[in-house]
Order: sequence, then C-alpha cells, then structure tokens
Amino acid sequence: MDFNLTTTDEEENFRVKLSAFLDRELTPQICRQHSMDLGLGPEARAFALKLGATGWLGRGWPEKYGGSGGSVIDEYILVQEFARHEAFVPNIVARFMCGPVILRHGSAEMKAAFLPRIASGEIEFSLGYTEPSSGSDLASMRMRAVDDGDSYIMTGQKIFNTQSHFADYHWLAVRTNPDVPRHHGISLFVVDQRAEGITIRPIETLGGERTNEVFYDSVRVPKSRLVGGLNKGFYYMAEALGYERLMLFQAIRLVPPFKRLVAYTKSTMRGGRLLCDNPDVRRHLAQMATEIRIAQALEDRAFALLKKGNPLDHESSLLKLFASSMRQRFVDAALDIMGPAGRLEEDSEGAPLAGEIIKMARASVIDTIGGGTSEILKSLVATRGMGLPR
Ligand SMILES: Cc1cc2nc3c(=O)[nH]c(=O)nc-3n(C[C@H](O)[C@H](O)[C@H](O)COP(=O)(O)OP(=O)(O)OC[C@H]3O[C@@H](n4cnc5c(N)ncnc54)[C@H](O)[C@@H]3O)c2cc1C
Repeated sequence: MDFNLTTTDEEENFRVKLSAFLDRELTPQICRQHSMDLGLGPEARAFALKLGATGWLGRGWPEKYGGSGGSVIDEYILVQEFARHEAFVPNIVARFMCGPVILRHGSAEMKAAFLPRIASGEIEFSLGYTEPSSGSDLASMRMRAVDDGDSYIMTGQKIFNTQSHFADYHWLAVRTNPDVPRHHGISLFVVDQRAEGITIRPIETLGGERTNEVFYDSVRVPKSRLVGGLNKGFYYMAEALGYERLMLFQAIRLVPPFKRLVAYTKSTMRGGRLLCDNPDVRRHLAQMATEIRIAQALEDRAFALLKKGNPLDHESSLLKLFASSMRQRFVDAALDIMGPAGRLEEDSEGAPLAGEIIKMARASVIDTIGGGTSEILKSLVATRGMGLPR
C-alpha cells in the first residue's frame, strides 16, 4: 500500500500563500459561523467572496469554469489548511460535493451557469437526499418529479437538509420514473432554494447546528436544471457522497484541541499529582496521538491514489469510517481525563478548556450518521473493498 503523498514546489508554494491569507483574514466569528451552520452571516459571506477573488477556491478546476488550474492536491491543501486553522472551507457543499459532479456530468449550460459562481465564493448548495423513510436506503426515495413540457413539477418532502435555510440552491434527488428498478428511476436537479412552493422548517440538533425539513408543493423546475442524464441521479449521488466522505473529516483538525488537552494535563493537578503523571491519562494521550497519525496516513493514501488518476471507490468510505469514530473516541477519552468538570458547558465557570470538549462531544454524534452511517460504510468496505458477498 502506498501511503506516500508527494507534493510539488508549486503546491507547497500555494500552501504557504493560503496559510498566510488565513492567518490574516480569519476571525473567530467567521470560524464559528461556519462550524455551527446556523445561517451564514454577512462576515462569512464576505470572507467567501474574498477567498473566491484570490482564485484559490477554484484551485483544481479548469480556468474556463472560473478555476485557477492546479490539481486535486491543491484541493487537498485547501481543506487541510482550513482545518489546521480550525476553520471550514466556505461553501463546502457547492465546492466539494455538487461542483465536482456538475464538472463531470453537467451540460455546458449548467457548467457555465454554476461553476464560476461556486469558484468565486458567491453561491452555496444544500444536499436534498434524505426523506423521512429513506436515509441509508436512498434508492427507496419517493418524492416525485412529473414531466410537464419544458419543466418538472415536484411534490414531496425531504428531511435533515442542513443548509437549506441559508443555501442558494437545493441539490435535489427525486424520482423521475417509478416504473423501473429503484436505482434507475432517480434524477438530480439544481433547484432555486427560495422557489415558490418550497417551505423550510427548522430541526434543532444536539450538536447545536440547525438542520431542516424541506417541503415541495407543486414546485416548477425547468428541465435545464437536470444534472447530467435523466434517471442517472442515483449514481451521481453516490459520486457526490464519495467526495463528501473524503472532504468532511481532516485528522489535522484534531491537532489543535489535542495540543490544548496535553497542555491541560501538564498544568492540572488531581489527587496530589499532575494529570500527565497518571498512567491512564498517558495511555489515552498516546492512543489519540497514534489514531490521528493513522487517519492522516489514510488521507494521504486517498489523495495519492487520486493524484495517480485512480478512482477512490471504497477508500473514501474507509477514511470516513475511521476518522468519524476517531473524533468520538477522542472526546470520550478527553472527557474521561477531565472527569466531571469536563461536562461543564462553554462559558460555565471552571469549565476545563472553556467547555470545548463537551461541545465537540455533542457535535460529534452526527459524525457517524451523516454522509452514510458507520454500519453502511462497513458494509461498503466489506463488499466493494474486500469482495465479500452482499
Ligand atoms: C444532523 C444531521 C444532518 C444531516 N444533513 C443531511 C443533509 O444535509 N442532507 C441530506 O440529504 N441528509 C442529511 N442527513 C441525513 C443522514 O444522511 C441520514 O440520517 C443517514 O443517512 C441515516 O439515515 P436515517 O436517519 O434515515 O437512518 P436509517 O437509515 O433509518 O438507519 C437507522 C439505523 O439503522 C442502521 N441501518 C440502516 N440500514 C442498514 C443496513 N442495511 N445494514 C446495517 N445497518 C443499517 C443505520 O446504520 C442506523 O444505525 C443528516 C442527518 C442528521 C442527523
């Protein structure tokens, strides 16, 4: 297995310039707006446009679609540097989940209409896959699109569409043919998220982020908004989920909180000695350090494969499976180290590390659910990765 990802001088130069830009431009307010998904405020929108103006949001995309050249490794550097700065790439759904599918399968008209605006930081998308009775088994989705001349009329309900309350476009999967085997009757569309007939209702989550129910009541969507071929949506969704699993977790994101935790153990006394002298605490920390390094190696391997032009297939499932459960193991171990005080919420008096770990603990519950649950990912690794029978 090749875990070795080599980068060129040009790519490293990009990393240095991007890092300096983030040092200069990121504020705690911008970082917080992205991590909470509560609705992107004006500061975060302005920041996205500023990043877009540098051309770096379009790194890895062709210039004719608003990109600035470069390779998939530049995309990797983009997400890694943001994660290292404890921030999120703005408009991440448009840039890393929908944009690549439009680039590969969209019509010339759709590419010209959307890709430059994604690369400039102007627009964001929300993923519209899940329905109340179709989550893991997406092929069972029921929401219908009915052919009506030059448009489709869409009626039905989606659930857990996280960014719909502030996104500009809905990346919507619907059933366009109910009379064929289920995987072959689904299509993907780009819908104006504020179109007439759409109602968005909030769902509050344990992690503090907002997600939504989205209802369509006879919404008219032009046929020009069909992504790629009719009834091929299931396969495009699978492709977009592959990008999602690859881009959502970066092991390096855990490094700053890990360092703060180590510093905490070196400065906090319990039972007459420093926490870092306790063998159980040391074991926890050594295990965390090891897991972070393993996840980094898996990421490097995935991008080394992409760089050589190999399709990822189950590799992105394997990466997401490990990295998402690693974050949960990290918070469990950190809470163990901190003891009861670790449960004190942000802004509570005496909360260790200002309550950041308990906040991470609540936010990490979704990690092993969204973008494919761990059970589904294990099944993909077993069948597609190891060739076991379905
Ligand atoms: C906070 C949050 C944000 C989300 N954001 C979005 C979003 O933006 N857009 C979007 O479209 N969706 C989103 N989702 C939906 C998410 O992708 C689904 O919740 C997830 O795919 C699981 O589907 P489900 O909730 O219907 O659970 P189910 O599919 O009903 O699964 C329930 C349990 O059964 C297990 N299970 C199901 N099938 C199998 C099987 N074949 N083998 C073994 N175990 C199985 C699952 O692993 C799980 O533990 C979000 C969900 C949450 C909670």
